[in-house]
Amino acid sequence: MRTESSAIDLDQVVADVISGIEIERSVAQAILDWPDERLDELLAATFKVRNASFGRRVKICILRNAQSGICAEDCHYCSQSRISKADIPVYRMQSVEQLVEGARLAAKSGARRYCMVCSMRGPAERDVDHLAEACERIRAEMPDLELCLSIGLLERDQAETLKAAGAGWINHNLNTSRRFYPNICTTHTWDDRVRTIENARAAGLSTCSGGIIGMGENDDDILDLAYATRRLEIDSVPVNFLHPIAGTPLEAGNALTPERCLKVACLFRMLNPRSEVRAAGGRELNLGPRQGDLFNAVNSIFVNGYLTTSGWDYERTRALIERSGFEVET
Ligand code: SF4
Repeated sequence: MRTESSAIDLDQVVADVISGIEIERSVAQAILDWPDERLDELLAATFKVRNASFGRRVKICILRNAQSGICAEDCHYCSQSRISKADIPVYRMQSVEQLVEGARLAAKSGARRYCMVCSMRGPAERDVDHLAEACERIRAEMPDLELCLSIGLLERDQAETLKAAGAGWINHNLNTSRRFYPNICTTHTWDDRVRTIENARAAGLSTCSGGIIGMGENDDDILDLAYATRRLEIDSVPVNFLHPIAGTPLEAGNALTPERCLKVACLFRMLNPRSEVRAAGGRELNLGPRQGDLFNAVNSIFVNGYLTTSGWDYERTRALIERSGFEVET
């Protein structure tokens, strides 16, 4: 059942969300249906929710592509999959020294979180040992830098090894709804991804998992994904806006508008009021001059690009944050 946006009492929604009440699906749908000409009202309401937990702070994160372009999986959005023909760098796992140097650069660039990403279905034991060594060295040298790994499907014992080595977070995006997942990947399942999240949490790691909007999914898929992030109590929820890459099955593009992206960001915030919600890949391409409005919903953002696509650097992003009335978390 659809609820007209004019029938929504945003003040009541904000009060409910802040007090921990889950918004009904009809309200969540109304957020996606919100009229563009009244978007400022929705953004102002969403700001109240983000402000209650995060004030005006914005956390900067930096990704490191630790192994590139040799993945056996077939994720259709990904330039590094086995079915991608994208022209990207291809290399095996970087040395421990390179990964530590990447952390130094990230810290120097003003990042609070450093995420090492490997293109793989999941790590072999030697990969876990290698990454654990990198984590130990980074933790010893930069104790305040938040350390995240995105390395595919993970078993519980592997997660425990990485936790013991000093990793704090595991990223593994659900990407879309369980229903739509076979349309974007056939080599593993949505449930496989949920198991990785559960293994990471069971090992004492914080969880980072969100999705990509603009892959051909419908509103119900976006709602299912957003409710899944809430019900799995994900600690950090990246929201990506598809950046179509030539040579991938999704190269033809998407139907996203800046307004649609903002409504989706508001939806994820309303369903995850106390979790980090992060603007991730595709913000520059899809939101353009409206990127600053994202901070009403998100409290975290990436700089220096997204593995194989480029993005704004720290200085440009910091200027955007400050111009929008927010402040970089230090
Ligand atoms: S598992 Fe990761 S690296 Fe591999 S194709 Fe999927 S998204 Fe790309």
